[in-house]
Amino acid sequence: MSQLELDGKRILVTGASRGIGQAIALDLLQQGAKVAGMATQVANLENTAKAAESTPGEFLALAGDVSDPTTAQAAIKAVVDAWGGLDGLVANAGITRDNLLLRMSPEQFDQVMSTNLAGPFHFLKAAAKPMMRARQGRMVLIGSVVGKTGNPGQANYCAAKAGLHGMARSVALELGSRGITCNVVAPGFIETEMTASLPEEAQKAMADKIVLGRPGKPEDVAAMTRFLLGPGGSYVTGQVLLVDGGLSLG
Ligand code: NAP
Repeated sequence: MSQLELDGKRILVTGASRGIGQAIALDLLQQGAKVAGMATQVANLENTAKAAESTPGEFLALAGDVSDPTTAQAAIKAVVDAWGGLDGLVANAGITRDNLLLRMSPEQFDQVMSTNLAGPFHFLKAAAKPMMRARQGRMVLIGSVVGKTGNPGQANYCAAKAGLHGMARSVALELGSRGITCNVVAPGFIETEMTASLPEEAQKAMADKIVLGRPGKPEDVAAMTRFLLGPGGSYVTGQVLLVDGGLSLG
């Protein structure tokens, strides 16, 4: 039997209850990883935990709000206590609070910034400690194509995602000498609950721009994330890797 790509690797994935984060968690588990998956409540992780049972990996369910700085510290501690260290981080949890600029409330702006930008910051900081001790680690942030292109109605979301792109480059520069990589995977239009809630017109406008002629699947994003966490990603850092079917070309 061939060796599993991520056999025994200890990886924390935020937002693992559904959509892209769930696909990433299950893909890593299929490759033999030990995955700690986080959502706002443990009950939300039941489906992921059930699906994990038929993989060669090991799953640990963790609950917390990523926008709270103490959540990241507690989550990393739980992983290190359970498995003795941390090899990878996938900061995926995210929300939308869409509105046109003139109608966007300061609360809508702040909620998105604290979950989608400050959240990953807290996790990067907490994960850096065990990774620096081990002198190795892989960090992946889930950005978005709209962090590059912008999108009407998403000034808050696009600002947070563009912020992630800059944050990853800075962290890559700071931690490269310790054997730690930090990259962004930036999905395009992916079929999940997040995009299903968009108005039909907005969905169609996005879908029409996709060069490959189909919306993305969570598994498309999982494949790139696994690459960065696995042997192939060892010499890639500070990059924003678009998984958008060519959406950003048009
Ligand atoms: P989704 O289906 O709405 O899932 C969001 C996940 O994040 C859920 O697991 C949710 O957990 C978790 N989450 C949300 N707020 C949280 C918080 N404060 N604390 C902890 N967990 C929280 O979203 P998705 O479409 O899979 O998107 C995943 C990531 O990809 C996001 O960062 C999103 O911005 C990005 N992205 C998505 C697309 C797309 O087309 N779908 C495109 C580009 C980028 P609960 O179950 O507890 O709510």
